[in-house]
Amino acid sequence: MTLTAPEPAAPTWDHRAAIAVYGTPAGQGAISFLGKGRGARHTNDKTLKPWRQAIVLATRDTTGCHGYTDFNGICLTCRTPKPDHGLYANIPTAVDITITVPKPKSAPKRRRTWPITRASSDIDHHARACLDALSLSGVIRDDSQITELAIRKVYPGEHPEALPTPGALIRLYTLAGAPE
Ligand SMILES: [Zn+2]
Repeated sequence: MTLTAPEPAAPTWDHRAAIAVYGTPAGQGAISFLGKGRGARHTNDKTLKPWRQAIVLATRDTTGCHGYTDFNGICLTCRTPKPDHGLYANIPTAVDITITVPKPKSAPKRRRTWPITRASSDIDHHARACLDALSLSGVIRDDSQITELAIRKVYPGEHPEALPTPGALIRLYTLAGAPE
C-alpha cells in the first residue's frame, strides 16, 4: 500500500464585511519626481487622496476598526502592539473588489458597455489604491496578508456587484476557522 498526500483543497473563506465606498475611483500607480531633495508624489494626487480617504472612512464605519496611532510601540487607542494591530491582523485574507467607474456621457444608455478606456484607469492601479487604504484603515495589519484578490471594473448598475453611482464595493474575507 502506498501512502499518497491528500489532494490540496482550495481554502474556504468567512465573509467579514461588504464595504460600499462612494466617490470617484482613482488608480494608484504613476509617480512623478519633484526634483532633487523634493521627493515624489502620485501624478493624480488630487483625485487619489480623497478616494483613499473615502475608502478608509467607509471601512471604519462598516467594520468598527480604527487606525494605528503610535505611543511607544503600542496603539494609543487599543494598546495593541504595532505588529499585531488590525481588526483582522496577521491571518490569511481574501479581497473581492468591484470598482464602479463613471459612465461617459457619450456611451450608449441602453446597451451594456465596458470601461476599457484610459480614463477608467488600470485595474492593478485600482487594486493598489484599495489595498493600501484597507491597511491604513486598521481593518487588516498589512496588505501582505492578502493571499487572494479578485477585482473588476464596471459601469454603474451594469454588474451584480456594481453600485448605482461611482465608487467601490469591497468584500473582505478571512480564512475559515481563523480566530476573529
Ligand atoms: Zn488600536
